[in-house]
Parts: sequence; structure tokens; C-alpha cells
Amino acid sequence: MTKPVASTVPFPTSSSAHDPIPLIDLKPQYQSIKQEIDEAVQRVFENQTFVLGDEVSKFESEIASYCDSREAIGCASGTDALILALQALNIGPGDEVITSPFTFFATASSIERVGAKPVFVDVEENGFNINPQAISAAVTSRTKAIMPVHIFGQCAKMEEINRIATKHNLAVIEDAAQAIGSEYRGRRTGVLGTIGCFSFFPTKNLGGAGDGGMITTDDAQLAARMKRLRVHGDAGRYQHVDLGMNSRLDSLQAAVLSVKLRYLDSWTEGRQRNASWYQELFDREQLGSVIQLPKTLPDRRHVYNQYCVRVHDGLRDEVLSSLREQQIGCAVYYPQPLHLQPCFAHHGYKEGQFPISEQLSRDIMALPIFAELNLGQLERVVSGVSKAVRSAQTKSSSISKAA
Ligand SMILES: *Cc1c(COP(=O)(O)O)cnc(C)c1O
Repeated sequence: MTKPVASTVPFPTSSSAHDPIPLIDLKPQYQSIKQEIDEAVQRVFENQTFVLGDEVSKFESEIASYCDSREAIGCASGTDALILALQALNIGPGDEVITSPFTFFATASSIERVGAKPVFVDVEENGFNINPQAISAAVTSRTKAIMPVHIFGQCAKMEEINRIATKHNLAVIEDAAQAIGSEYRGRRTGVLGTIGCFSFFPTKNLGGAGDGGMITTDDAQLAARMKRLRVHGDAGRYQHVDLGMNSRLDSLQAAVLSVKLRYLDSWTEGRQRNASWYQELFDREQLGSVIQLPKTLPDRRHVYNQYCVRVHDGLRDEVLSSLREQQIGCAVYYPQPLHLQPCFAHHGYKEGQFPISEQLSRDIMALPIFAELNLGQLERVVSGVSKAVRSAQTKSSSISKAA
């Protein structure tokens, strides 16, 4: 299926060697499509239809076609997409959902929110996604679903996950919030499980002008139920057959996102090009075993919502503070794995239980990857990291000598 791809935006040429480099800057993206966005916003105001409506229906079919799913249902956020999916599958108190502890909070909070138990299993070193063998070992008679996360924009091992799901008759809910357009064996996220959940939070690869979300599925019955659940479970004429919620996509968001969807593939190519430049530039720096770059696994299309490197030898926090001094954008996704979050303490998870996730939370670090970065900026990021690593190494060796 070939889709028209809008032309790549030209790189900004104005950045100087001293400007700070943000982790993400949404302004150049807006500037490059300002006229189209402004017209879309204007159109919504002329129509004065603000919730659901034609703008949303049109955008839903565009997403269905982009992901190759039969159905797509807009909702208020990625978090709500997960909650609506769980509700549609009748998952609630007494049920268990197996998921990753190395992800954004909403993955597990959605499970807890519907009254079920998030059952965490560790991730793999390669790609940081949930480990299928660990899933197998965690299945009980209460397990109702598996919720893999395509972390940072690269797909989990969906074939193995689906095999386990089929064997035990479980649903698979993809948390694809970071992974729109990401592919596994030539198929896009959103159709790799029973239900796919997307977020349009402004910093996701397809980001709106506020919160928004989308659910995809090939199952017409589940789709009909989720459409009802997002409008208070109303089957029409105020017949409330389900205890639903108010979780709808705004027309304004749909109009903006519909413009941006046309550019998504060219922005994704920009992120991928930046990742390959990073690979070349870091290779030249010879940082050896200290900085470990992310890898694209076989059969995947990595969409790099985040470009996360690992900083070994316990140097991560020193490197972070040096980068901040140099005004180079960086962040930690995520500093605490979810099994150790205070609000999940009642489940009794212990430190040491998921060693890979715990280690990742100590050594992971995100660097700028947005499409509009130019080569000069990437060079400055890499030399900044290099400088940070060498000064962190000097500090830690003088500390160990003093001790
Ligand atoms: C962003 C995100 C969500 C939540 O999406 P919102 O639209 O912010 O509610 C869920 N899971 C993951 C992995 C995310 O990155």
C-alpha cells in the first residue's frame, strides 16, 4: 500500500554554535505547515462543531487507513484509549493484565483504574520491550490480557506475544502511544493485537494541539462497544447500556491532526536519518563501552519517538548534569520502573524483582531526535556527550583514588 508522502521540510539554517539545543522543539514543525494548520483551525471555528462530528469521522478513517485497521475510534487521550479498551474487553476486579514495568505510568495505571491488577514482567536488554518468556511464566487462571508497549517507537515481539495469547485465550492490547507508524514484519502498530491504543499528546510523533487519543481494531463488536463507552455508554436516546465515560476527540484536534498525518512519514524519515547520523558521529568519537546506542531489531521499522542511549559505568547522572550545563537537551525515560511506584506498593513488588528494568532506569538517557534538527546540531550533541563522558570519567576516577 503506497500512501502519498508530503515533502520533507527544509532544515532551519539559523542555528548558531551557541544556541541551546532543546530535547524537542515543536515550533519549526508548526512553522513549516502553519498555513494549513491555521486554515484547519479556522474551518472548525466557522463550523462551531467542537466535539466529534465530521472532522473526527474523517480523521478516524484516515487513521484506519494509515494503520490498515477496519475501525478507528477517537477519544480524549492515550490513557483513555487504554481504559476504554480494557472496559470493552470486560476486564475489571479480580482480573490480571500482564505488562511491562519499563514504560510511562499510564500503561499500568489504566489497568489499575478499571480495578484489575497490573502483573509486571521484565523487559529484554535488546529493545527494552516485554520479554515473551517472562509473559508465559506469569500467566495464571486470572490473566485476561497482555498489554505490550512499543517503547520509544520500536515494536515488541508481537509474534511470540500473540502465540501466548492464542494459547491461553487472552486479548492483546497494544500500547502504541509512542509508536504510530512503527512496523513489525511489514505490518503497522494498531493491528498487531486485538486492540491498538494511540496518544496524540503534543510530543508524540503525531502530536495534536492538546490531548487526544485513538483506538484501532479489526473487531466490529469491540469497536461498537468502545464508541458507546466514550459517550457514557449511550446506545442512543439516552439508553445507557454500559457505565461509560466522557472521552471524545475534539474537532479541533482532529482537524489539526489530519493535516499533520500527511507529513508523519516524512517526519519519521527525519528521525530515522538523525538516528543514523548519530550512529556515524558516535562511532567516530570512540566512546567505547560507555555509551550504548539504540539498535533497530530485525523485521522492525523504528519510529524513534525517543532516542535513548545507555550510559554505563554509573556515569549517567554526571553526564546528564554536564549536558545540562552545556544547554544540550536530555531527559530520563524513565527514572523509576512502575513496580516500585508508591501507588502500586499494595501489590507487594520488590526491588530486585525486575533487574533489567531497574538497571535501565539507572542508565538510560534520551537525546534530541526531532526531525528538524540539522547535522551541525547533532554534531554538537555528540561532542557534548563526549565531553560529558570524559569529564565524568575523570571525576569518578579521582573519587575512587581518594577513597
Ligand atoms: C504518552 C503515553 C501514554 C498516555 O498517553 P496520553 O495521551 O498522555 O494519555 C500511554 N502509554 C505510553 C507508553 C505513553 O508514552
